[in-house]
Amino acid sequence: MVIFKTARELREYLGMQDGKKSTIGFIPTMGALHAGHISLIERAKKQNFLTVCSIFLNPTQFNDVTDFEQYPVSTDNDIELLLKSECDVLFLPSINEIYPEGPQHTKTYDFGYLDTILEGANRPGHFKGVGQVVGRLFEIVNPDTLFLGQKDFQQCMVITRLKEMLGVDQLKIDICPTLREADGLAMSSRNRRLTEPQRTIAAVIYQCLVSIQAKQDSASFAIVKKECFELLNNKGFTTEYVALADARTLELMDEYDRTRPMVTLIAAKIGDIRLIDNLMIN
Ligand code: AMP
Repeated sequence: MVIFKTARELREYLGMQDGKKSTIGFIPTMGALHAGHISLIERAKKQNFLTVCSIFLNPTQFNDVTDFEQYPVSTDNDIELLLKSECDVLFLPSINEIYPEGPQHTKTYDFGYLDTILEGANRPGHFKGVGQVVGRLFEIVNPDTLFLGQKDFQQCMVITRLKEMLGVDQLKIDICPTLREADGLAMSSRNRRLTEPQRTIAAVIYQCLVSIQAKQDSASFAIVKKECFELLNNKGFTTEYVALADARTLELMDEYDRTRPMVTLIAAKIGDIRLIDNLMIN
């Protein structure tokens, strides 16, 4: 695996591969890698000549300074995992490489409706930062396929919208399944910060998603949603949302409607650790 810290060197290297009709699969990450990230690398490797992973803890997508400061960093371990998975290229830029003129002078995008609900509503400015960094990474890496995790469902939609806005029609977006721990908890870098009791409770989020799925023919969503809020809050979570939405548009739904593809999404905090998860239910 080759590691590049500057955009110029990475561009030069990728430029040299162009002649070989190589395709580039790209996996942007914020580091603290786990098996979920590695599943994206493995998928990219199967389909591309070159697999490029980036690790950049993007400050502009954190609406909460403490969350940013406490976000786990484990670069040496990340490199080991990437070596083991036979990733070809790691891009490990500094903030100046991503935002040479400063973030305030780097292009941002307006995601309209998508930025007004769920993650957008609960994390003001988050998707503006996501769009900014992914836009800039596209510019540097110019991938053929982008590999994203369904774990960040709304982010996948935002990045798909970004692709449309940038007019990069040739770019493919491959949305990969969420990897989970044995008890159902979605793998996440933030899980590392959970204490043992918090870790045990954390699986309740997935149990709620499954119950929302299981009850779609027998109960009203309004009631199931209330049950989930109560269960989560009784276990010690501060629940931000328990939602049902059209999986194509993320239009929020008050009730189950089997004629539409539905996704259920939850965001809840345990201590100061914010967890999100989702499940396609039909
Ligand atoms: P992050 O480092 O959290 O920005 O995540 C980088 C990429 O990995 C994003 O596309 C995430 O959706 C994806 N990802 C994170 N957790 C998982 C998981 N448990 N399973 C699959 N993909 C994941």
